[in-house]
Amino acid sequence: MRRNRNAKIIATLGPAVADKESIAALFAAGADVFRLNFSHGTHEDHKKLYDIIRVLEVHFSRPIGIVADMQGPKLRIGEFAHGPVRLVEGAKFRVDLAETPGDEHRAPLPHSEIFAALHPGIDLLLDDGKVRLRVVDCGADYAETVVITGGELSDHKGLNIPAAVTGLTPLTKKDRSDLQFALDLGVDWIALSFVQRPEDVAEARKLIGGKAGILVKLEKPAAMDHLFEIIDLADAVMVARGDLGVEVPPEDVPALQKRIISACRFAGKPVIVATQMLDSMVHAPTPTRAEASDVATAIYDGADSVMLSAETAVGAYPVEAVAMMDRIVNRVEIDPQYRKMMDAGRREPEATAADAITAAARQVAHTISAAVIVTFSSSGSTTLRAARERPQVPILGLTANAVTARKLALAWGVHSVHTKELSSFSEMVGMAMAMALREEFATSGDRLVVTAGVPFGTPGATNILRIAWMK
Ligand code: PEP
Repeated sequence: MRRNRNAKIIATLGPAVADKESIAALFAAGADVFRLNFSHGTHEDHKKLYDIIRVLEVHFSRPIGIVADMQGPKLRIGEFAHGPVRLVEGAKFRVDLAETPGDEHRAPLPHSEIFAALHPGIDLLLDDGKVRLRVVDCGADYAETVVITGGELSDHKGLNIPAAVTGLTPLTKKDRSDLQFALDLGVDWIALSFVQRPEDVAEARKLIGGKAGILVKLEKPAAMDHLFEIIDLADAVMVARGDLGVEVPPEDVPALQKRIISACRFAGKPVIVATQMLDSMVHAPTPTRAEASDVATAIYDGADSVMLSAETAVGAYPVEAVAMMDRIVNRVEIDPQYRKMMDAGRREPEATAADAITAAARQVAHTISAAVIVTFSSSGSTTLRAARERPQVPILGLTANAVTARKLALAWGVHSVHTKELSSFSEMVGMAMAMALREEFATSGDRLVVTAGVPFGTPGATNILRIAWMK
């Protein structure tokens, strides 16, 4: 079963799609990867979803990627003694470490690590930025503020401090337990929330080892100061526009999105655009024109994947949302302007044998009108270098590693297939032809461009390019 598009779709699972039939319908409608959001649900809930996906993988005979999204150090205020309070512009308001429930003059803020990062003049944003407080005085366990934008505040509302680099680890105690659980389940990607510095990714890498790919969510302005280093350390990146759009003004989000996509395309790392893509479909069967345009923009920019969050997790039209995204992506990709943009945005190959071969493979495939480029890769790195070329023909990514096949489900233009181990180059060419036929990428008379590395099993050793004719 093949899809006729390059960009991939990630669907977040949740109460609206928690059974086998619903998840199968999401896959059939176009979801390539599923996200388990560890900000919600129990380990038991996630295991149930994980098991369903792995059953569906066998049913559909396709590798399906699973992302476990860690909650990260999401800051929240504590509780109020008598329900919600209304903060009025110009009033004084205090946040502190005291555990006593709050009122209209103060609220508990049970995060001792953040007070050291505050200083007079810094803004605290509450409830997705609806309420803004400016710090006028602070100490080791308190901050006195003045209300800049008033509004209602209730228990456990989220807090963002865009201007501060806090001492918070990207993996809290809860995250570490969730992480171990997700790795034991066998997820393919771990998404790290609120990454601030390159060291945050390095710290997570120590815990994750090679057990799953690291997907860094970019949602803190501080991370943008180290964009290239963070992308280098990550295996994939997400433009997490939900929190990013609270941390920076909304008008800054599009430019940041373009900057992140461009940097990821340069580095050859998969990049995902996420959040509010078809938000009105949480309640309505069709999106707004602006939302359709938003999805299209991410595709024209060359993003590897677009993601649905509430639309599928808690929405009234989850399958329709995936189907709509599938239609928008397909429509953009047949636009001649899209091809021009992919070609114009192509980056120079790096001075490596693998890049020389993959760049040549794209050129050869174009010149001889090949049906498909076939890559052999154990780690997936050569296949991702081929995707970096954004070729005009699809990439059939063959791998003897099941985890690699699943991880590649979110990469641009790659149709990954898990094959048996191969030991000779002629066996490899035979396998390329058999898989191109079985997966509906080529028929008799078509030409394939095959890339591989000899000796086998040496990561990054791609050094062969072969044109093969289908008999
Ligand atoms: C986001 O903030 O855009 C995001 C994807 O993260 P979450 O859904 O965990 O808030």
